[in-house]
Amino acid sequence: MTHPAQPKASHFINGEYVEDTSGTQIPVIYAATGEQIATVHAATPAIVEQALASAKAAQKEWAKMTGTERGRILRRAADIMRARNHELSVLETYDTGKPLQETLVADATSGADALEYFGGLAGSLTGEHIPMGEDWVYTMREALGLCVGIGAWNYPTQIACWKGAPALACGNSMVFKPSETTPLCALKVAEILHEAGAPAGIYNVIQGMGEVGGALVTDPRVDKVSLTGSVPTGKKVYAAAATGMKHVTMELGGKSPLIIFDDADVENAVGGAINGNFYSSGQVCSNGTRVFVQKGIKEKFLARLAERTGNAVIGDPMDEATSFGPMVTESQMNIVLGYIEKGKAEGARVVCGGARADMPGYYIQPTVFADVTDDMTIAREEIFGPVMSVLDFDTEEEVILRANDTEFGLSAGVFTNDFSRAHRVIGQLEAGSCFINSYNDAPVEAPFGGVKASGVGRENSKEAIKHFSQVKSVYVRMGDVEAAF
Ligand code: NAD
Repeated sequence: MTHPAQPKASHFINGEYVEDTSGTQIPVIYAATGEQIATVHAATPAIVEQALASAKAAQKEWAKMTGTERGRILRRAADIMRARNHELSVLETYDTGKPLQETLVADATSGADALEYFGGLAGSLTGEHIPMGEDWVYTMREALGLCVGIGAWNYPTQIACWKGAPALACGNSMVFKPSETTPLCALKVAEILHEAGAPAGIYNVIQGMGEVGGALVTDPRVDKVSLTGSVPTGKKVYAAAATGMKHVTMELGGKSPLIIFDDADVENAVGGAINGNFYSSGQVCSNGTRVFVQKGIKEKFLARLAERTGNAVIGDPMDEATSFGPMVTESQMNIVLGYIEKGKAEGARVVCGGARADMPGYYIQPTVFADVTDDMTIAREEIFGPVMSVLDFDTEEEVILRANDTEFGLSAGVFTNDFSRAHRVIGQLEAGSCFINSYNDAPVEAPFGGVKASGVGRENSKEAIKHFSQVKSVYVRMGDVEAAF
């Protein structure tokens, strides 16, 4: 019997499901059991061509609609997503292995927020009037054209919407390629947008590995590329896009600092560290994986952290009582286990976890290392798993220097009850998305993105509009034209 997660076909192009079984088979494995639940096929050159041609053909008419009309479609799609939240959350859990407890509140709901927010903004995308004496200049905010979205595997519904919603609000069309690890959810986003009234070709989804992504990025019809992925992939995609002088948004990896001063509320700081390391089994780009704890509260912090981490309910992701699920794939599990071994070998102290969980599927125990030093591998490289490194510090000046000593710059957090210190420290941290007495909130209203190697551009908020549109300025002369001859 076909598994309920099996999609009708691999791709969604020009308003319908399309299959081409000559493309490489991509198995979809449910991380909680290791069983294959679906199969899709990577896009062949013919499928890539179909998707790009339909997106190109549909874009101009879409851009001619009023923003209010486009916005209405996006908002309708948001309503459909919310109405189907349970079904979409189950699919997200099959796609990623994340517990239903999370997917019910963080995935289709976050996608719907983006569709609603950018749907609401679409009618207000205006230009400026700039008086020049009797003459004037006016500006128009225009669509870029055909945009390509390329996703990572940790938030397949959310990423498809965070890219699609602002792109479509601005009058662009999109070809979206999900991660080959999680190909299912973006197809539902395309289906729902179509059902909500998006014209055929405006939002297309095709499957494939990096090769398909590469074919999209280098196509001369493509005006913009928005990637969510790792830094090495980001460097390749950015370079390829630059060759064609295309716009880019790069949402890449991180190794973010979370700084806990000894005047902080310990329970809240522990809660922040848990949210910033163990949500989605640690597979979150903005995670605060370098937890700097001031020496005065170190032992108290570690004791409560170990106690509360022990309350994680590890198990069947479809059981709503489960609060901690498996790693997305066997290979990601092995990468993370490799880092855990390196942490032990380099002398960090295991406070809790430190091994695979004893059950089928790709589970790793939530792991806390203490006595981590700045030079250890686990403190330098992005692990993308449930591995928290706790480092000690003495002074504010020292911790700022150490927190910034990384190529990454996605997020940063500070826990303290001294608000002048909180703002002073945040002001000096090299990161794009920061938190004070909190961690990992990502509302659609707030800009999201990184500095340094963690990225270029911003998603969400009004900032995203700037990255999916461009300004045309028009000088209007009222009098005669003066010329030298
Ligand atoms: P990845 O870099 O391996 O792949 C990302 C996407 O790029 C995939 O769809 C992949 O098929 C595609 N790709 C790979 N090579 C390509 C190429 N040469 N040309 C075009 N496309 C190509 O990342 P991943 O393992 O899927 O995801 C984990 C990474 O993503 C982590 O580093 C994480 O921090 C990052 N991430 C960042 C954010 C953010 O918003 N900043 C969010 C989630 C994940």
